[in-house]
Amino acid sequence: MSENEKPGFIMCVCTGKCPGFSKMDIWDFINRVRIELPVEYGFIHPQLCEEDGDRFLMDFLKAHRKVVIGGCAPNMQTKLFRDAFKDSGLDISKDLVPIDVRDMTTDQAIEKVSAALLKLEESK
Ligand code: SF4
Repeated sequence: MSENEKPGFIMCVCTGKCPGFSKMDIWDFINRVRIELPVEYGFIHPQLCEEDGDRFLMDFLKAHRKVVIGGCAPNMQTKLFRDAFKDSGLDISKDLVPIDVRDMTTDQAIEKVSAALLKLEESK
């Protein structure tokens, strides 16, 4: 991946029914990520850890783009997505920044994504 490529951002909303995301306005959040933050693109996925989510992730990772995923706990994400990253020839410890954005307001979640992007930038 070229040094200049911006990461992608995926918001995993846990089917959209998880009360953990009830404090934020999901659509306002993803639109602000797309427009205000240095990402190549941002989008919402309903359930990345389901079988179709896994298939989607395998296709997505073919681009070998680093990715920040907002969703559940980082250790949970690392466990759930380990195989997809490995099978795609990526190093999950370097190519994924998993962040927990549950129980946050839109502003708090934006700040967390912003910090994650900074961390990725500094690790280059
Ligand atoms: S990856 Fe985490 S946030 Fe996404 S659906 Fe699975 S448990 Fe929920």
